Amino acid sequence: MNFRIRRRGSFWLIILFAWLLPSSMPAADSAAKVYVILWFDTEDYLLPASDDAALHLAKFLSGEEVRATFKVVGEKARTLERRNRADVIAALKKHEIGYHSNFHSTQPSPALYLSQLGWDEGVNEFDRREGPGRADVERIFGQAPSCYGQPGSSWGPQSYGAMSRWGMKVYLDAGNHVNLNDRPCYYCGLLNLYKLAYTLRADLNHPQDLLQAQERFIQARKALLAEGGGVVSVFYHPCEFVHKQFWDGVNFSRGANPPREKWKQPPAKTTEETRSSYRVFEEYVRFLKRFPEVRFITASEAAKLYRDRARDHRFTAAELQTIAKAVGEDVSFQIHSDYALSASEVFALLNAYVDRTQNADATPLVEQLTVKNTPLGPTGRIPLMTETVTTDASQFQRTCRDVADSLDKHGRIPSAVWLGSRPVPPEAYLATLARIAQLRLNGAAMPESIEIKPARLAAARYVADDDPKKLWGWVIFPPGFRAPALMELAKKQAWTLKPAILGKSE
Ligand SMILES: [Zn+2]
Repeated sequence: MNFRIRRRGSFWLIILFAWLLPSSMPAADSAAKVYVILWFDTEDYLLPASDDAALHLAKFLSGEEVRATFKVVGEKARTLERRNRADVIAALKKHEIGYHSNFHSTQPSPALYLSQLGWDEGVNEFDRREGPGRADVERIFGQAPSCYGQPGSSWGPQSYGAMSRWGMKVYLDAGNHVNLNDRPCYYCGLLNLYKLAYTLRADLNHPQDLLQAQERFIQARKALLAEGGGVVSVFYHPCEFVHKQFWDGVNFSRGANPPREKWKQPPAKTTEETRSSYRVFEEYVRFLKRFPEVRFITASEAAKLYRDRARDHRFTAAELQTIAKAVGEDVSFQIHSDYALSASEVFALLNAYVDRTQNADATPLVEQLTVKNTPLGPTGRIPLMTETVTTDASQFQRTCRDVADSLDKHGRIPSAVWLGSRPVPPEAYLATLARIAQLRLNGAAMPESIEIKPARLAAARYVADDDPKKLWGWVIFPPGFRAPALMELAKKQAWTLKPAILGKSE
């Protein structure tokens, strides 16, 4: 069905229709949906009134039949338990529970400690520091948290490694570290709802601005419907409804780390100020609900909607040709009919193909190729390469076998691909591999002499350069905090980056 008015009725019927339909009704796909993911960073473990705020919000939303995602801090969950707030726990449990770090703002926050570490040490350290809080949230709320998002802008790529270990599928937050054209994307094998075109809020402290917030949503809805649907991210903190200043700013600003006995409560709003904040929020939610194509979703529902369709794709020889042809010296993700491939998936796919063709007729092997997982990007030092390296067919085939085994055992792109005693960067190897794959798919033999030319990871441009203003402006960081090595590590994981494609709605 679509809403374009056909010119066959009477003039008056057209006028009537025009009057009945909102002016922004889409002419495009009428099955398109606007998915609103509503999430709360539930973190203040100092001001007891923030417990009541979480209770109020959870109950209001349940009454409206809206399910939200409450990302709970480990210490917040333990505090609710200590304060015997079974009522708050029960109300939140009706929604989806996510995770928001163990202590949030005590020093050092995740980006600080991760900035000194490589991949594996970082994953282990994140697991050591944050894992116990995750386990507490699961124990107290009786459900495994579905997602994680960092405190403030204290982001680090190694958190994704720990999340995979924990079985989490979604990174849910708002920030600038990874940005694939302001759209949902996959990074390190997880769905990222992070830097989105539409992260919208109504200002709780300025009720007079509610109309403008509603107008911003109307514009977002129009744009999303025109592109076939999409997601709007709306987030709050329960504590914002009851405080005048954030609980952590009062205690841990600019690197401060006072002992627990010196932690101070933040200044609280008056009863009337709190009531006014609830009014703004409740009116905004009821406004969003009015649109017929709006669906409220949780993090795990987003994971289903944006399910990675490369996982169960069966490739044809023609598709593999297209994939191989699309690889150039600018290595990046690829978008095909209804699925996308990260550079690391293309690497694994083509390597498996060329490896398997070594002693057999190539064509029937294609159908056996699948993308079972997303290999991580390299985590070690990449060798420098400035000029062409030449090798022979025998060495290339042996290297191909070695790379297949390495992918299988380590689950990541090798930092150096060894052609005998000569290491080449994985980007350069992939560009050559793609050329060989095309030859083999055409039935040609492996050439006797093979040239490997320099290439680069073009997808790295979607991961931010280290920039204190853009990335590390959170008031809790010590002044002057920078993390160049951390962002370099993050850029190497751009091998795993690809757009998340919205599935057809019900
Ligand atoms: Zn937070």
